[in-house]
Amino acid sequence: MKQTPKLDEFNLIEHYFKAKSYRGDVIVGVGDDGAVTEVPADHQLVTVTDTMVEGVHFDKTTPPRAIGHKLVAVNLSDLAAMGAAPSWGSLALTLPTIDEDWLHDFSGGLKEISNYYECDLIGGDTTRGPLTLTYTAQGVVPNGTAIRRDQAKAGDWLYVSGSLGDAGLALRLLQGELSATHGHLQSLVNRLHYPTPRVALGQLLRGVANSCIDVSDGLLADLNHLLPKKGQMGVQLELDKLPLSLALTETLDLDEAFALALTAGDDYELLFTVPEQNRGRLETITSHLKDKPVCIGRIVKDEQRQVKMTYQGEHWQMPDIKLGYNHFGAP
Ligand code: ADP
Ligand code: MG
Repeated sequence: MKQTPKLDEFNLIEHYFKAKSYRGDVIVGVGDDGAVTEVPADHQLVTVTDTMVEGVHFDKTTPPRAIGHKLVAVNLSDLAAMGAAPSWGSLALTLPTIDEDWLHDFSGGLKEISNYYECDLIGGDTTRGPLTLTYTAQGVVPNGTAIRRDQAKAGDWLYVSGSLGDAGLALRLLQGELSATHGHLQSLVNRLHYPTPRVALGQLLRGVANSCIDVSDGLLADLNHLLPKKGQMGVQLELDKLPLSLALTETLDLDEAFALALTAGDDYELLFTVPEQNRGRLETITSHLKDKPVCIGRIVKDEQRQVKMTYQGEHWQMPDIKLGYNHFGAP
């Protein structure tokens, strides 16, 4: 690979990360000690951060363009889950060497998704060390409208966007644990490498959803975060309603497909709860979306905080497999 020792930190930033601003609210962007931005009147700032480490979140075979895309996508997904409109981003880059081919592709992927969602890169930091990427995104919500994860109420209906389990299946295909049928490999790998943050849906859910979270660790693991610890609430999940892609159902048998859809991470769909009186409004505001959210169950009173799963009206028992990814959990 091409390595150019002449490119130092400053012209590296200039060359790859200083881009034209698409927003009128960036007063000072990349180049000064700090960025200055204008927060719109009557709005609150929402700030999220995610880190990707080589060997943990991706490996040497992951295309750098995908790493750039996904780094921004996972952050915009967190903003979407809060109901926030993305505005600005900041990138902390730790690189083992200056590899121009890698930087070209990585910054290309990062800029493409940033421009699409009009999220300006306004600053960052560049250091030498094991390949680690940290992105901080900021977005705005009208005062008091951010959607929290801990406000679900008993009686709320549970919804999820898009389809579940595809990224998890892609990972297992790439690792050689499973093999794909019917030529679905590329579309599945795209779901893993180029996730779509549900930016528009998140903002539509303001004032409609009681609570929302993005599915990054697996449906069951993230569902657990939606049930307030003291709330004495459980969930009834109807597996018949789980949105599963054709790629998933044609590759796996039904038990495996459910298990993956329930426990595999990296889907970046929105999981949210809607009170009975807002269901009609949800229908109306999402009627134009290509991937309409589907209702997969209901939040119920339950002191034991159980997740009860049914398939065709019968109790369904999960096969004994590993739950959602936990960086510090038992293997
Ligand atoms: P300082 O020494 O004042 O901390 P730096 O030399 O780290 O400044 O950065 C110079 C400018 O370049 C700053 O505006 C900073 O936000 C920006 N910057 C540094 N690294 C990156 C990066 N990877 N992406 C975008 N902007 C960056
Ligand atoms: Mg400084």
